[in-house]
Amino acid sequence: MQILVVNNGSSSIKYQLYRMSDRQVLAKGTVERVGNSSSFLKHQDPTGETITITQVIPDHKHGMKLVLDYLTDPQYGAIQSMNEITAIGHRVVHGGELFKESTLIDDNVIEGIQAVSQLAPLHNPHNLTGIKVCTELIPEKPQVAVFDTVFHQTMDASAFMYALPYRYYQDYKIRKYGFHGTSHKYVSQRAAELMGKSLSELKLITCHLGNGASITAVKNGKSVDTSMGFTPLEGLMMGTRCGDLDPAIIPYLLKTEKIDPASLDRIMNYESGLYGISGLSNDLRDIEKAAAEGNQRAQLALDMYIHRIRKYIGSYLFILGGADAIVFTAGVGENQSNIRQKICADLQWLNIHIDQESNQIRSEEKCISTKDSSIEVWVIPTNEELMIAEETANLIAETALA
Ligand code: ADP
Repeated sequence: MQILVVNNGSSSIKYQLYRMSDRQVLAKGTVERVGNSSSFLKHQDPTGETITITQVIPDHKHGMKLVLDYLTDPQYGAIQSMNEITAIGHRVVHGGELFKESTLIDDNVIEGIQAVSQLAPLHNPHNLTGIKVCTELIPEKPQVAVFDTVFHQTMDASAFMYALPYRYYQDYKIRKYGFHGTSHKYVSQRAAELMGKSLSELKLITCHLGNGASITAVKNGKSVDTSMGFTPLEGLMMGTRCGDLDPAIIPYLLKTEKIDPASLDRIMNYESGLYGISGLSNDLRDIEKAAAEGNQRAQLALDMYIHRIRKYIGSYLFILGGADAIVFTAGVGENQSNIRQKICADLQWLNIHIDQESNQIRSEEKCISTKDSSIEVWVIPTNEELMIAEETANLIAETALA
């Protein structure tokens, strides 16, 4: 079985072709700057060689057509014809309350994704375009939607409701949805495999620390709480996002700065977080370097970043009633050993001990706590594309059996 994973963005198409028997990526790539005169396709063939094809790609349909041409290209392709692809798995950011699991796409599902698009106007319409383009180009292949929000649909109302008048939930579906679900699910499953335990008996705290960042409390394989909310703005301090703040600051700023809501939204999403506090960069590597050189605002940004992560891990330990493991993933979680060290510092009272030597790894599956640590600490590189491929393959297999 071979599955094509597609992540369609506003001006990009990311793709990976998986052979499911050995979870091997046969080919992958990105189309970038769709609709722009400098658009190009970067394609990695089965030998690992990467080629760049620069040509005008006016829209996503042309982009996808180019991808399919290169996947089946006699020299750079991985398959001889589209017949060798079993199904296509699409990343869809928001499933609202409508989608509680990955779903085989039909007209009703397309309507449903459209209906919840107002909750993710920057993402869902582009994900839908990807689905429509594939339907047009390869109508005979089944397609599956894998939603970022689905993993968190198991949260109890006590965790997902905001204490606003109830009618806002009824009228506008304002509630916590959570994001990065595919990543949190993937690392939870991998953690169970690596720990040699059943996911159904584990309590995990999964920390996806990238440019966008979120932490999830996972009990028996189910998300019970997560730091992102109605949008990905809630929760941790991120590269450029502010994360949690007193909501009263919003009307106060609108009034005193005399700015409109869209401008403040932009400030909170793109001019805040590590970048907003340091005034330097959204990249934690730059912040660390500047802090080490004595830059006080970089040091403050770093201290705030760590403090917020520790606060969430602490609250999830309480909610879960302890944890079997804490898992770090994504850019920072996978690569920055000193940040992991700082997050887990001074936890002897909880009997959490980091093994300094093991913690030196980058982008590798490894337990970084000592053998006598009561809570294991793991680094597990995320793989959202593989998770989408697996969800797609499982659904196709189930449908075939039914
Ligand atoms: P995104 O959320 O955009 O996918 P990433 O998961 O790549 O972002 O995370 C970006 C962050 O991860 C940056 O702040 C950077 O400091 C850190 N990071 C990414 N790659 C590395 C690396 N190879 N070494 C150290 N830090 C890294």
